[in-house]
Amino acid sequence: MEANNYSKLYHLQQQYFNTVLKQERIYARKERLFKIKKWIKNNQTLIQETLYKDFKKTPEEVLISEIKPIIGEINLALKKLRYWSKTKNVDTPLTLLGTKGKIKIEPKGVCLVIAPWNFPFMLAVGPVISAIAAGNTIVLKPSEMTPHTEKLLVKLFTDLFSKECIAVITGGIPETTELLKLPWNHIFFTGSPQVGKIVMKQAATHLSSVTLELGGRNPVVITKNANLRDTAKKLAWGKFFNNGQSCVSPNYVLIDQTIKAKFIEELKFEFVEMYGNYPDEIKENKALTRIVNNFHYNRLKNLLDNSIKAGAKVVFGNVTDSDANYISPTILTHVTVDNPIFKEEIFGPILPLIAYDNLDNALEIIHKVDTPLAFYIFSKSKKEQNYIINNTSAGTTVLNDTTLQFAHPNLPFGGMGSSGMGKAHGYFGFLEFSNQRSILSQRTNGTTSQLIYPKYNWFKRFVIRTITWNE
Ligand code: NAD
Repeated sequence: MEANNYSKLYHLQQQYFNTVLKQERIYARKERLFKIKKWIKNNQTLIQETLYKDFKKTPEEVLISEIKPIIGEINLALKKLRYWSKTKNVDTPLTLLGTKGKIKIEPKGVCLVIAPWNFPFMLAVGPVISAIAAGNTIVLKPSEMTPHTEKLLVKLFTDLFSKECIAVITGGIPETTELLKLPWNHIFFTGSPQVGKIVMKQAATHLSSVTLELGGRNPVVITKNANLRDTAKKLAWGKFFNNGQSCVSPNYVLIDQTIKAKFIEELKFEFVEMYGNYPDEIKENKALTRIVNNFHYNRLKNLLDNSIKAGAKVVFGNVTDSDANYISPTILTHVTVDNPIFKEEIFGPILPLIAYDNLDNALEIIHKVDTPLAFYIFSKSKKEQNYIINNTSAGTTVLNDTTLQFAHPNLPFGGMGSSGMGKAHGYFGFLEFSNQRSILSQRTNGTTSQLIYPKYNWFKRFVIRTITWNE
């Protein structure tokens, strides 16, 4: 589609929003959500096959991380939408006696959703669910890196909706650049911090509001009060889920040096239990998704080679195959903060371990890195957990596990600073696509606020002097 057609589509959606969606009842939004749910349920195998074609994503992981969370989001919205959308009355302060205040939840209007490739179905459809629930029209731009899913998303939305209501635009940077020139009422972007900056800059030209769901370098802290077998099992799963290509994937592990050797043994054991013992067995294991494409394979291979050159030691893994976009799950030790592997978001199956002498050393290392999207603490000590939480910052935090925060429908999901702004999921996602409009109604004629109008006399001066706000 050409640039002026994007503009036509935008205006078509704007008109549809003003003439249809603004007047419709909550029931109509629910109907749209229900249609998507039905389509997904009827096409579950097709979705699984499609993601397998894109990056050999295993059917089980597709169910866990692409299909079920979306069905869950829809179910929650279907159940709560009437309550979420209700106009809410607020208390009146003494100073505004006689007035009534309420918050009316309104849709923002014409919204753009830009999605990444790593959960190409869920991260495209998820924000669309929130935008529909809030009553908006939507243009969705999926990732071009997962072309089969891109086509599937076109099918899903053109099967179910007219383009005035929901449209899908395919393509890469040139198409997204053109789309970003339009005066969207809201842009919901999921992707890298680098592209997040481009999106925000473009949004600023029209003062479009933005949600930025970005990435980052997520730390894991393992203290000597952790249960090592339990930690190893959870980390072996959380790190290699989607082959490490997840925004909440652990990026580096800080571990008390007194337990490091024992922990590595536990991690190897748990890894073998899940994925196999021998290089061929691991490679053939269908539970391991592949790296998305050769560009990302080469990025990761260079990162791995450079980190080894800089002194990192391979504990296990480092089996690579460029033709298959395969790097076996790899654990590195002897990593310092100067090592290249520490300096970027890895987004692949490599896990560096850094040993620390005392907890404050570990916190110093964490403070060198931008605020992460996810923060994982493994310790049975409440005192230690609180100490770490109170001395750090993060979009989300999990105690004694990884990754699961994403699946909690009642927790806001999002980053802070370079890991993003705004929140996704459930009610929080709904609010992101809504305007909370304040409405204050005043009585006619004599009102208490007229006591502060000029002309001032001794009585009005007394009122102004003694009046207090919100006490
Ligand atoms: P990306 O930023 O490269 O691409 C995301 C989207 O932006 C794609 O649709 C792409 O077409 C578009 N895009 C790319 N370059 C662009 C440009 N120059 N101008 C305009 N649009 C452009 O991200 P990705 O590689 O698809 O995804 C990986 C990143 O996303 C990681 O940093 C990861 O942590 C982050 N992520 C965050 C979350 C979250 O919920 N916070 C979830 C998944 C991924």
